[in-house]
Amino acid sequence: MEERPTFDATGKPNPLPAFPFGAVYFRKSNPPREDWERDYRTASEDGMNVFRHWFLWSGIEIEPGRYDWSDYDRQLELGAANGIKAIIAEMITVAPEWTYRKYPQAVYRGRDGTAREGFMHGSCATGGTALCMDNGDAKAAAETFLRTLAHRYKNHPGLGGYDIWNECGAAPCYCAATAARFREWLTAKYGDLPTLGEAWHRYGYADWDDIFPPRHEGPWPDVLDWTEFHIESAHLLMRWRYEVIRAADPNHPITAHGVAGSLTSMAERATDDWRAAAEVESYGYTWGSCRHGDEPWKQFHAVDLVRASSRGKPFWHAEAYGGPLWMAPNVIGKPRNEGRIASPEDIRYWHMVSFMAGATGSLYLRWRPLLDGPLFGAFGPYGMDGSRTARSAMSSRTAKWVTSSEQAGLWKSRPVKGEIGIIYVPETQVFTQAQQGNTSFYSQSMRGAYQGFFDNNIQADWVHIRHIDERDALYLPFPVMLNRETADRLRVWVEAGGTLVCEGCPAYFGERGRVGTTQPNYGLDELFGAQESYVEFTPDLLGDLRFNLSGMPVRGGIFMQVYEPTTGTPCGWYEDGRIAAVDHSFGRGKTRLIGTMCGAGYAEHPTDRWPTFFADVLRLCGKEPHVTCSEPRVKARIHDGSGGTYLWVANPVRSALPVRLELGSAWGSFSSVRTLRSGDARVNARTVDLTAPARDVMVLELVK
Ligand SMILES: [Zn+2]
Repeated sequence: MEERPTFDATGKPNPLPAFPFGAVYFRKSNPPREDWERDYRTASEDGMNVFRHWFLWSGIEIEPGRYDWSDYDRQLELGAANGIKAIIAEMITVAPEWTYRKYPQAVYRGRDGTAREGFMHGSCATGGTALCMDNGDAKAAAETFLRTLAHRYKNHPGLGGYDIWNECGAAPCYCAATAARFREWLTAKYGDLPTLGEAWHRYGYADWDDIFPPRHEGPWPDVLDWTEFHIESAHLLMRWRYEVIRAADPNHPITAHGVAGSLTSMAERATDDWRAAAEVESYGYTWGSCRHGDEPWKQFHAVDLVRASSRGKPFWHAEAYGGPLWMAPNVIGKPRNEGRIASPEDIRYWHMVSFMAGATGSLYLRWRPLLDGPLFGAFGPYGMDGSRTARSAMSSRTAKWVTSSEQAGLWKSRPVKGEIGIIYVPETQVFTQAQQGNTSFYSQSMRGAYQGFFDNNIQADWVHIRHIDERDALYLPFPVMLNRETADRLRVWVEAGGTLVCEGCPAYFGERGRVGTTQPNYGLDELFGAQESYVEFTPDLLGDLRFNLSGMPVRGGIFMQVYEPTTGTPCGWYEDGRIAAVDHSFGRGKTRLIGTMCGAGYAEHPTDRWPTFFADVLRLCGKEPHVTCSEPRVKARIHDGSGGTYLWVANPVRSALPVRLELGSAWGSFSSVRTLRSGDARVNARTVDLTAPARDVMVLELVK
């Protein structure tokens, strides 16, 4: 296992603490200036070592070329005096109001063509305007601001680094400059107009200027191209910001954080964590149970997604929740104790789950709540006046634990590779968004499969289709649209010895959304040893679809494909006796094709479903679980590496739970166990007995 990479490419000492722990502090115009000195002292006493601040373009360049740095200078001075490093969150997304007048053509335009008027940013109590960086003059002005910013602070002792994209994601802009860039992109892709016209089924383009970004929806090639262009374009702008800052300041680390949105909003808002993480030196995520729900699998799946997309780089829980959320639409109707009003124990549990899944840094969205705007009172562990609370006391205990030198060994070891991978295929989601106007079939299938493994304490890692060669056991949910390259890649991978379990209608829709006339499409019928004999696209009627897998009941849903085996062997049947699943050997590998969406069926039936199906997938792959748990509510995972072997045990419920854990035989046997936090445990070879403390995570070092 490799050491964590250092941030600094020049070999200079990393200016950030080994384990950054803190909060977003200054979001102009909060907190009040008169409290800053006291707040920094409090934070420092409580164990915090990093603050992020929103460096709003609109809050600084108050007239063209005239900058007001006073509030920001003070943050870095106070940070330097209190041992709190500043992460500069650049915010060119909030441009000064005067830019609306100076660059009218560059103002961001929505799908209906209307220019976005100046706005108040609810998360920082500052106003601004939104510019499209496809316009050269606006981009040059933003670049000057970024360069001036980095030059001003690059030698400041209070500087820790930069964050170049807050919650990585953006909706496409429909201004003239973006349309021009889209035409350039299409020229590079198709070469000439007749080729593009043929691909798009649009034959009347006489000039490139006849092409406009599609404002319609639907599973059409122009919509798919526009989406792909937008996602690529958004990340090229991220690279531009990286390069501008890196050129001005060669020494300080550059990070960014997304929203763990790859499964839900990637097609709509370009939230592709793999692409974003590739552009920076470390990565991170915003996640809060009050917004997303507090079911135990949810936070794990989000952190696992960010760990997978970070590809070995360090990543932080860059916006963690430390307080309540009042009156927002996504909390209305929910009980108090489902993350809506964070308790100290909730905060502890959420932190520790992030670290258990691999995060090695944490910042609250707010150190203390905003006093203005719709998010008043939200998120911060400290009081409205900056005073300490029971939540901040818990936060302080966590900060001091994670940053203690006693934990240095723990952070050198990393989460082990999961027993199985779930494949992420971006084009499937792009197509689903185009076809359905949302991604729910896709995201529900992906997340449902994860839940099925999670409920068996199986660590299912998210695996990008580009990286399947790193794995030997994979599950592919909702594969209804695949490009030919993806289908070929799967075929080659199985042939070389992989085991693939695949849900229904693989590559039913192929390149540009066209249906294949042989199903499964693109030669996958040979891979799976079966052909389609019947298919139904009736998601509204298939909510209760079931089949049996060699006698085991399993839920499906969304679509239903029935098979006629060719060289494969039937292993599953719908209730009417038709064939639902086929096993096959192909080259040195094997496959199981299932004609419906088992992940979605699992997700849709929380009280009546069969997790044994997912345990059986692991058995088919010839894998043993890393850890088997006697108590299904408790989750256990292993970290391993140069710092030692650690067992993390999470108990999400609000009472202690006795549990027996059996480690997989690959881990060998252990002679003793050392508790790093929360309670005692006994080990006998591969068996660990303990009582998992309520709403907490235990960490044990296993000694051979
Ligand atoms: Zn634009």
